[in-house]
Amino acid sequence: MQPDDVIDKQRKGLPIYSARKRLVKELNNRTNVILIGETGCGKTTQVPQYIYQAQLNKGLMIACTQPRRVAAITIATRVAQEMRTELGSLTGYCVRFDDCTNPQTKIKYMTDGMLLRESVLDPMLKRYSFVILDEAHERTLHTDVLFGICKRAQARRKADQRPPLKIVVMSATMDADQFSRYFQADVLYLEGRSFEVECFYTGESQPDYVYSSMVTALQIHRTRDLGEDILIFLTGEEEIEAVVKTLREVSQEQAGPKLLVYPMYSKLASEAQLRVFNSTPEKCRKCIVATNIAETSVTIAGIQHVIDSGMVKSKSYNAHSGLDVLKVSRISKAQAWQRLGRAGRISSGSCYRLYTEVEFDAFRENTIPEILRSNLASVILQLFALGVDDIKSFDFMDKPTNESVESAVQTLELLGAIDDSQNITPLGRKMSAFPLDPRMSKALISAHTNGCLEEILSIISMLSVDTAFISTRSKQQECQDAHRKFLHSEGDHLTLLNVYRSYKGSGGSKEWCSRNFLNQRNLKSAMDVRKQLKELSAQNDLVSPCSSAAPTNVIRKTLLAGYFQSIAELQVNNQYKLVIGSKTVSIHPSSALFQCKPQYLLYNELVQTSKCYMRNVSMIEETALIEVFPEPMRRKLQTPS
Ligand code: ADP
Ligand code: MG
Repeated sequence: MQPDDVIDKQRKGLPIYSARKRLVKELNNRTNVILIGETGCGKTTQVPQYIYQAQLNKGLMIACTQPRRVAAITIATRVAQEMRTELGSLTGYCVRFDDCTNPQTKIKYMTDGMLLRESVLDPMLKRYSFVILDEAHERTLHTDVLFGICKRAQARRKADQRPPLKIVVMSATMDADQFSRYFQADVLYLEGRSFEVECFYTGESQPDYVYSSMVTALQIHRTRDLGEDILIFLTGEEEIEAVVKTLREVSQEQAGPKLLVYPMYSKLASEAQLRVFNSTPEKCRKCIVATNIAETSVTIAGIQHVIDSGMVKSKSYNAHSGLDVLKVSRISKAQAWQRLGRAGRISSGSCYRLYTEVEFDAFRENTIPEILRSNLASVILQLFALGVDDIKSFDFMDKPTNESVESAVQTLELLGAIDDSQNITPLGRKMSAFPLDPRMSKALISAHTNGCLEEILSIISMLSVDTAFISTRSKQQECQDAHRKFLHSEGDHLTLLNVYRSYKGSGGSKEWCSRNFLNQRNLKSAMDVRKQLKELSAQNDLVSPCSSAAPTNVIRKTLLAGYFQSIAELQVNNQYKLVIGSKTVSIHPSSALFQCKPQYLLYNELVQTSKCYMRNVSMIEETALIEVFPEPMRRKLQTPS
């Protein structure tokens, strides 16, 4: 932790500081403001404080949304420190399953998904006088929907003659014109400081960009002055952890200055994330290996070399086939420039692009808004719940295609969340009360009817947190042996249930966890999540009879009640094909069923790497399929194609 006087000095040194008077005046005079300024200039940490200190919030709350939970948590932690208050009092944060605020909270950092959720309960957002939609250029699904919801809340408050709601949209880079038109707002540009960044391309394509990134980092470490830190952009946890491990090992073996390597990605525990902000000790160089979270959301001081893989992991959705796939793909030019800019914050720097200039020229100009490549079932259910019944005429900044709206509406109909005249049903309303995917909340509600609520609560909680299984490469065999005793022959969901029960049986013992190569922190979060879900269930009249354990086939059938659209069938060629979409898929190697070939499988998620993998699978009996499938799908399934 930095001393207060150092923090004060840092705050006054931020580029935004000299603009604060003008900023406060504009925020006071206008209803909507679009604020653009370089990453690191102080928007996210300072603007809410300026609003609060000038009392523009008139005693109400200031919401500042973030696309990622880590950003919400780390920034709130920093701001609480800057304001010399405890986190969770005046300044707090609210992310899924973790609300760190109290009735005194005025500055609330939250994920965009949480504000969207709150708007279902309070469509006018009455507790807030300011909503700051941060990182707007990222165009996440939830932020995009919030654009329309905030405008709607603003108009309603005006019509009701209530205190106004002000909207501030903030970003580092974006198509300011489009935002300005949509919000009918002026654009304020903050002066930034940035230095020249030299840009290098590779001579040839680098299919193994992970390897190239390590080689490049080690080369920089060998040849450049200490004090010039490195930031590597990769795509996800697995890749990042592997690179961190290798770089640490290489650095250990080498004589000379040490390379301190830190990972940075959304799912990382917050203490571990805060480590990247520590200043670099003498005779060391810092190297951060991050996902695109470091593109704009968090600013790390001292970076002078950026290594850009040119890749990002993102969702893609095909409304026609109904498939939602997570896959690694090329970034946009806008993202590439943003990544490059990370090297020029404190002095001139360099950016090593692990792709050729010709490849770069083929990148798309801008990132496609997530709303145009997502399964919309979850947000459309929320829109229905908050009373928007004509989705197609909702004021979207970029309208999703009719096809994807129709496909989402159809899913919600099959789930029973809306009726055939497209009104939300009591079931749909109940489903929208849970911070879960509609398929998951449907399974939870069915669990009540089927008498397996306790089991489904545990399974969903385990699915909502990071994996409990530790897999250390050097102790691979020991890990596998330890995990084998939890394996359930009917699939991953029941395996997760076994793990949860055993963990609970151990009394949450840390020693037991390490003996079994299980991650205690993640198991503890699963327990917290479960507690919250159980409370929510009780509030929604879902209670479990105190009966004995439910049979496993009932548990799997209950999951099917939500996931009937996610089924794969074994073909004569011994491969799996999705029942909807007909895509060829495989069981993920981490699955309990990896070596098995049941006729039918249910899965939670598809991940595209070299193959398309199903993650978290359970076997399903044909009789269960016939029983649980909604009528329209059953007809389709029974007609041979
Ligand atoms: P912006 O939103 O404009 O990108 P921020 O308000 O997030 O900028 O950050 C402003 C500055 O505050 C950063 O340049 C960084 O130096 C500092 N800062 C932000 N978060 C932390 C933190 N957790 N620890 C230390 N310094 C931080
Ligand atoms: Mg910011």
